[in-house]
Amino acid sequence: MAEKINGSVCLNHPDTPAVAHCAVCRKPVCQECQKIYEGVTYCSKECYESAKRTGSMVDDVIKKRKAVELKRKIRNIIILLIIIALAFAGWTYYKKNKSTIDAKAKNLKQQTEKTINDSKKSIDKGLIKDSKYKKEHEGLLK
Ligand SMILES: [Zn+2]
Ligand SMILES: [Zn+2]
Repeated sequence: MAEKINGSVCLNHPDTPAVAHCAVCRKPVCQECQKIYEGVTYCSKECYESAKRTGSMVDDVIKKRKAVELKRKIRNIIILLIIIALAFAGWTYYKKNKSTIDAKAKNLKQQTEKTINDSKKSIDKGLIKDSKYKKEHEGLLK
């Protein structure tokens, strides 16, 4: 005797207890009415074909998802390549202008040294003048 499913009866045979539900439309079916395709119970061939269509749709969804993932990966690779290109461009720019920057730094250093030397000379002169003045002043005091 077939096992009753939740007290349901076959949709086609109200006196016969259902043994399974259609995998697609959930209709209760008796052992006589159930159609088993690829190990899955359906109420009809139509429901099986619908399930096959849904299955293919699921496959399409998976394919689309994979395509989206692939696109995302490609986009990430492109972004990475852009970053590398920018880094390379920046590095090249720095390398190209390094000599210019170094030359400017050298000029600045020379100017600074010159200014420092001039200042030192001025200070020395000032000190000499000052000491000379001091000596004269001290000489006057004596
Ligand atoms: Zn069905
Ligand atoms: Zn039936």
